[in-house]
Amino acid sequence: MQQMNRRTFVEAVATIAGVQALNAVPALADMDARLVAISTPLGLFDYADVELHDGPMRRQFDENHARFLNLDDDRMLKVFRQVAGLPAPGEDMGGWYDLNGFSLERNDFHGFIAGHSFGQYVSGLARAYAVTGDEATRQKINRLVKGYGETLDAKAKFFVDYRLPAYTYDKLSCGLIDAHEFAHDPLALGIHEKLTRAILAYLPEKALSRAEQRSRAHKNTAYTWDETYTLPENLFVAYQRSGKPFYLDLAKKYLEDDTYFNPLAEGNNVLPFEHAYSHVNAFSSAMQAYITLGSEKHLRAAKNGFEMLQNTQSFATGGWGPNEAFGEPGVGQLGDSLSQTHASFETPCGAYGHFKITRYLLRVTKSPLYGDSMERVLYNTILGAWPIQADGTSFYYSDYANTGKKVWYKDKWPCCSGTFPQLAADYHVSTYLRSHDGVYVNLFTPSSVRWTDGGTRLQLTQTTRYPFDNKIEIQISASQPHEHTLYVRIPAWAKPDPVVMVNDRRVTSHVEPGSFVALRNRWKTGDRVQLELPMPLRLETIDPNHPNLVALVQGPLVLMAITDSQPTFDRQALLRAKPANNDRGDWTATSVSSGEVTMRPFMKIDKESYSTYVQIRS
Ligand SMILES: [Zn+2]
Repeated sequence: MQQMNRRTFVEAVATIAGVQALNAVPALADMDARLVAISTPLGLFDYADVELHDGPMRRQFDENHARFLNLDDDRMLKVFRQVAGLPAPGEDMGGWYDLNGFSLERNDFHGFIAGHSFGQYVSGLARAYAVTGDEATRQKINRLVKGYGETLDAKAKFFVDYRLPAYTYDKLSCGLIDAHEFAHDPLALGIHEKLTRAILAYLPEKALSRAEQRSRAHKNTAYTWDETYTLPENLFVAYQRSGKPFYLDLAKKYLEDDTYFNPLAEGNNVLPFEHAYSHVNAFSSAMQAYITLGSEKHLRAAKNGFEMLQNTQSFATGGWGPNEAFGEPGVGQLGDSLSQTHASFETPCGAYGHFKITRYLLRVTKSPLYGDSMERVLYNTILGAWPIQADGTSFYYSDYANTGKKVWYKDKWPCCSGTFPQLAADYHVSTYLRSHDGVYVNLFTPSSVRWTDGGTRLQLTQTTRYPFDNKIEIQISASQPHEHTLYVRIPAWAKPDPVVMVNDRRVTSHVEPGSFVALRNRWKTGDRVQLELPMPLRLETIDPNHPNLVALVQGPLVLMAITDSQPTFDRQALLRAKPANNDRGDWTATSVSSGEVTMRPFMKIDKESYSTYVQIRS
């Protein structure tokens, strides 16, 4: 039995990060080097360099791309045209997206935040265009950006008496800079600057915590959930892509230093009671402050904040933030949440934020443990989310309650319909990363990556059924033999004896769980790397206050009990679970309470009820 210890994770990350800061290598910058202070040791590939092959990640990318490519332009633009007094044909979008209907008293979220996710849909399409080069997608982006620009006046009057101006501006900002960057839209950057100059009239003078917003609230501004503290990430990126210092000044102005990043950088856990997703998303603003300004304080804040997230707020699935909030550590809040809420993890948004921060930290530290964390969220949360439906019906919360069920969210076009298409496109840039001396294989999924080095054209092709099989094969092709290093992630749980073979010969040195194994070679077409990762069953306790509440974990997968009532097991009997050898990745374990219980990964669960955590008889 191996019991995951989150403190071990943190110490390992700290150690590896400390060592590698000294060994930082020159980077392949993925942005204009004059506009950033830090070249991260690992760089991103272009979206088009990576191809996902048949599998659940490719399916989610295709579903999201098709969903938004086929969503009617007039419907998407309608609320902006209505406010501008322009002809506004097309049906209402419905749900959160419409102009009117919201009432906190009636708990009615129709018209909650008009047009809030338009920018995310444009961003998702722009990244999908970057992947596919699909001309219809590019044309749609051009129409949407032009159509939005026609509704924007110099004072952005859309935002007069608007509930959450920073929230919606941040998404519009992202959509417009992505339309410029990835779809080369000719209007997007100009519209972005016009919008940004106008939105300032609706924003406070600095990033406000929710407590500060509450203290300033009066009758007309009683709504205190705006997210000014997430703005800097996109403002820094806008600076990098436009070169305009105006954005740099704004980005610095909205860093929430006083109440968030300063205490985090000093190791004070200020997460409790904050809104979960937006405060994880804010870590990415700290990372952009590090990359753009070279601010070590902000790197420390992001690293420490992520450690606190892992240590004190995370379920075995990698998800966090029941009821969208961080809890107080040390009082058993995660275990308690299982009987208090079905809103355990805000899945598409949370996974999007989690992918971003782990990708940033991986690029800076080269620590494989961030990859381990990313894949845990991938397989146990987002790949189990249902696809967005044509009418905007969306998957929102993962339910870890006793017992839980997958359900649709009650309101159409929520926040999670905006982050899902962005995240699914980002699968491409999360799977492989580049270093000055080679390629990092971060996620195991059927895929290929292409690059050139000094005139040599190179490609890796990955074949695997992982995580439902423990074998991964990577084939190399090269226009001529070429010396470089393949770094392949060996997950920390892959104990005791991970196998790595190069051209059928076993690699015996430095194959350690919790590392990137470095395979330096003069690679040529036909060479292949094979991995066989041990995937031991282990139990992970939900929190120290509930030592008998455990999740059964195999490799990166949490195995959930398919049941109408939470079962009880003997510890050893649960660890003797056997694979059912069916196509759902089921396992079978014998419980004390109800005999044989099927244990199933979240991504294979449909309508059946399940317990994420089970009781252990003490
Ligand atoms: Zn959401």
